[in-house]
Amino acid sequence: MRKPIIAGNWKMYKTMDEAVAFVEALAGKLKESDKTETVICPPAPYLAALVEKSKGLPIRIAAQTMHEETEGAFTGEISPAMLKSIGVELVVLGHSERRQYYNETDDSVNRKVKSAFEHQLTPIVCVGETLEQRENNATSAIVSEQVKKAFAGVSETDAASAIVAYEPVWAIGTGRTATAEDANKVCGQIREVLAELYSDSVAQAIRIQYGGSVKPGNIEELLSMSDIDGALVGGASLDPESFAALAEAG
Ligand code: 13P
Repeated sequence: MRKPIIAGNWKMYKTMDEAVAFVEALAGKLKESDKTETVICPPAPYLAALVEKSKGLPIRIAAQTMHEETEGAFTGEISPAMLKSIGVELVVLGHSERRQYYNETDDSVNRKVKSAFEHQLTPIVCVGETLEQRENNATSAIVSEQVKKAFAGVSETDAASAIVAYEPVWAIGTGRTATAEDANKVCGQIREVLAELYSDSVAQAIRIQYGGSVKPGNIEELLSMSDIDGALVGGASLDPESFAALAEAG
């Protein structure tokens, strides 16, 4: 069975003090139930401190993005080797906000996915359609294409450890959640694409999260779906109380 993975993407929120206080509060609320895996994706300046702070706790730390090169003259960027050197274990790649505001494309996401694996980082590969694409009945085609391109050239062994996050763009930060059935349908299609690219067993091993206005009130229904293996959470991950409720769901 795939263990659900609940990841809190803080985006560009919180000060250092607030970030540390959050981990302390969350640690006090998480039970040792081991039902789900808990991940926090803080802003880059707090990554090293939160890796230290979460040692011995059932919390893993992910970066929100990274550059594809190991090192180089790329002012302002953060490399996978740097993330690895401070103990970061996962990295969110291809989030729709990165695609929308920072020119990330299926090709650059693919290069980053391959680079993450080369540096032993687990990618959380984000895919999802816009409202216009959904209204044009293009969801399945768009998401399939994003998955195929993101995984191009990725070995079967690496792919099996990847995490995919299905985040319909129109559901992010809008309070509009896809229905659990709709979200599950697209996650099932993603798994079919992965089975075509690799094999049934690889597709069954890959965890697929849903993201977009996930809250304590809708997490149980989402997690009860056959192809939804967790959530990538924005707004509701900023408060330790609500994030703990999400992390304890399932
Ligand atoms: P919200 O949970 O705020 O809708 O954000 C979802 C998201 O983008 C997580 O990466």
